[in-house]
Amino acid sequence: MSASSDNLHPDTPIVVLSGPTASGKTTIVNRLMQESPVKLIKAISATTRPRRKGEVDGEDYYFLTQEEFEERQKNDEFLECEQVHGLGYWYGTLKSEVARAEQEGGWPFLEIDVQGTLKLKEQFPQTITLFVRTSSDEEYEKRIRSRGTESEEVIEKRLETIRKELELAEHYNHVIINDELDRAVAEIGTILKQREQELNAG
Ligand code: 5GP
Repeated sequence: MSASSDNLHPDTPIVVLSGPTASGKTTIVNRLMQESPVKLIKAISATTRPRRKGEVDGEDYYFLTQEEFEERQKNDEFLECEQVHGLGYWYGTLKSEVARAEQEGGWPFLEIDVQGTLKLKEQFPQTITLFVRTSSDEEYEKRIRSRGTESEEVIEKRLETIRKELELAEHYNHVIINDELDRAVAEIGTILKQREQELNAG
């Protein structure tokens, strides 16, 4: 992981997708990886959060110890990194992942939190920011509780984060309502295609 993004081409859009946990964003990401009209390469984030059942190191995340994460921070290997949702865990996008996307001829596709997105957008204004949400706020609590994998304390912290994230959605280029999966995926496809056409024209 030695490549750097310092030479990221200013026209290459970074595509960022955010949304509250349980907004269905992971499903949307998987669908877009299959059927986006523009080639997307998913950047694999690094995190200090413990691995959940079924998650694979190097596919879902690079699972790092606190020490490993700090070492990479010290070496300036992150494009952005954040301590997400007050649980004390770090998450970050490695510059090498963005470089990999460019090498593979696609647009880097990041699924990251709101704070990380806003910082990235400042640094790389060409970033396309997409916020996915459901139309009803109550749906989140229902979905999180139905997962049944987390303690009450963790659930409460996640709900608090969701409230904060929804307030910041207005800073995104596009807010996508995911009440109907096919429609949400198609809408994002159209947005990406349009940007590609603008780039080709311009
Ligand atoms: P989870 O623990 O449920 O996998 O992810 C929790 C949150 O971390 C999600 O909102 C996700 O978007 C965010 N996240 C994942 N990777 C990154 C990253 O590389 N950078 C930032 N800033 N947030 C991330």
